[in-house]
Amino acid sequence: MQTYKYPLGKQSNAIRIGNLLDDMWQVHEYFHKWQRQRYKDGLPYANYNAMSAHLTDLKRTTHRHWNALPSQAIQQELERIDAAYVRFFKKLGGRPKIKKRHKFKSITFPGEAGWSLKNNRITLTFRKWNPKTRKWQFDKVPYTFHKHRQWKPGTISRITLKRDNCGNYWLCILTNYIGFKPLPATGKSVGADFGMKDAYLTLSTGEKKQHPQPLKQSLKKLWSLNKELSRKKKGSNGWWRCVRAIARLYRKISNQRKDFHWQLASELCKKFDTISIETLNLEGMKRLWGRKVSDLAFSQFVEILKYKCQKHKRELRQVGQWTATTKPCSDCGFHNETLTLNDRQWTCPQCSSHHDRDINAAINILRAGIAVT
Ligand SMILES: [Zn+2]
Repeated sequence: MQTYKYPLGKQSNAIRIGNLLDDMWQVHEYFHKWQRQRYKDGLPYANYNAMSAHLTDLKRTTHRHWNALPSQAIQQELERIDAAYVRFFKKLGGRPKIKKRHKFKSITFPGEAGWSLKNNRITLTFRKWNPKTRKWQFDKVPYTFHKHRQWKPGTISRITLKRDNCGNYWLCILTNYIGFKPLPATGKSVGADFGMKDAYLTLSTGEKKQHPQPLKQSLKKLWSLNKELSRKKKGSNGWWRCVRAIARLYRKISNQRKDFHWQLASELCKKFDTISIETLNLEGMKRLWGRKVSDLAFSQFVEILKYKCQKHKRELRQVGQWTATTKPCSDCGFHNETLTLNDRQWTCPQCSSHHDRDINAAINILRAGIAVT
């Protein structure tokens, strides 16, 4: 499955999507509270069908305005709630949470219902009350989006409308195109060592990759924006302008980071068939390095690498956390116990070969990765 994300154009009726999100949040809040109340009253859990029946009652009696919402989107929201509770009952997830209004950011439509796509235009089906006929009738609202690329042919399994922190709206199209051609095999394997000091990623081939560290780059700007914000009156127009500017800067930072990660992951997949990495102890690293770990976002990179490897039929091997990779000499296997974090280069006392700390570790990870099978 592949998701394509397009920005919606600036248009006056975009406010309706915002209102729709707020209304859908009410549905979200209502049904979560309803489930909790039922639990308190000792009633059995109401599954999707029971929620759906209750919704029909509400639409007829106390919540008549919900008739104006796209019914497919409400169904999807009820399915989301049901899935969250089922996960909870199977002990796969925590107690389902009620989102805050401003945290409720997306609505989903199932395939081919409640919307239609044509070129760069999506038409959503709302409903409105017609006082003459005294009936609810369909109200089709078109939106344009910036179609910067064509999605691959295949059925669209669902579409999602999103609102981000900057107040922009996005259209996500999920297709189940399966015709991807994996990259040709290269017959090469590599070990990769994550690092904090010299390089982000050191390959067993001796190559070192530097991380752009976008947060570090924008830190000064972020500080000055935060200072500006603190001088403004909370809730004023200038204050809101500043809040949005900060949100935009954070979005830029996260985009820069993601871009780097995708490029690095696809470069690795192009060059190697088997990629060995270590399992990271992120908690320990956070204690040691703080903000820098979040900026480097190792786990995001590993997730992207996993996805790319699956797509291109590459093998990703994760070496156990407790496998020694830094201290053994990659030539003779001698354990250099005197090695500290500050030793970037060292010479093996047994076979007197000279090592770069990270390259040595990457070679050890490659070996351990081969041993995994
Ligand atoms: Zn040695």
